Amino acid sequence: MKISSKDFRVPAGTQVSLGKWPTRVPPAYKSKKEYRKLLATHIEALSSLQALHYAADRRAVLIIFQGMDAAGKDGAIRHVMSGVNPQGCEVFSFKQPSAEELQHDFLWRSTCRLPERGRIGIFNRSYYEDVLVVRVHPEILVSQGLVAKAPAENTFWEERYRSIVDLEAHLHRNGTRVIKFFLHLSRDEQRKRFLERIDEPDKNWKFGAADIAERKCWPLYMQAYEACLSATSTADAPWYVVPADDKQSARLIVSQIILDLFKDLKMSYPKTTTERHRELQAIRKQLVK
Ligand code: AMP
Ligand code: MG
Repeated sequence: MKISSKDFRVPAGTQVSLGKWPTRVPPAYKSKKEYRKLLATHIEALSSLQALHYAADRRAVLIIFQGMDAAGKDGAIRHVMSGVNPQGCEVFSFKQPSAEELQHDFLWRSTCRLPERGRIGIFNRSYYEDVLVVRVHPEILVSQGLVAKAPAENTFWEERYRSIVDLEAHLHRNGTRVIKFFLHLSRDEQRKRFLERIDEPDKNWKFGAADIAERKCWPLYMQAYEACLSATSTADAPWYVVPADDKQSARLIVSQIILDLFKDLKMSYPKTTTERHRELQAIRKQLVK
């Protein structure tokens, strides 16, 4: 089955109801072996497109990963980007903001990490946390000293969405392509993955008491995601809702969408001018001598 990016894209202006978006789809592979082969093909294609992207040095690409705990963000990043030259790619994981970061507006710490032209920047969580975890726990805003009391009305969040949409539009106008993945996991699959993290000693480090506290807020998170995806999926910086209950499938979908983005950029290696060609030939002659 061919993976089609647009099946997962949230069209601008859509009111997202996550119950209607699947967390599992018929996989594009029939066996583990076929999965590995398909992923290897994607990785190889991505590797050569990234080399071209680096050489062309025209645009930057920003890829954002969001999702609940255990949705597979780390694994997707590790597998999908495994063939990419580390010199052309930077990954940043955003945790609770530091004291210094809290002295700035909520977009500041991410803008410091934006990719340069010719590079790929990957955000493992992002400024979107400021309308997700913070929306679910508005008391964070009070503890951050940003507001005197938790904002009751929607205006506060709508303003944050607008700030995000404006930033992404600005980036697009200035040559940065932005795509955003929401790894859509079911609550039951999260339970299974948490149990694995408890049962397998090598995975214990991944599990914390806070994870179970957040799990209890699942419905609030889904509401926050729905409002966020509805308000911030735009033609220039679309959200993709990736069914994440099957990790292999999610990785193939994510890599296909990134490949399609790169193909859309219609890049080419910088052309050698006649003058430059002559110059190179002259140097060549000296080297051969
Ligand atoms: P992990 O991705 O498992 O390492 O966890 C990182 C934690 O940092 C998650 O619980 C996020 O919700 C939290 N986090 C990331 N960004 C923010 C933010 N802007 N405000 C509050 N918590 C955040
Ligand atoms: Mg975690």
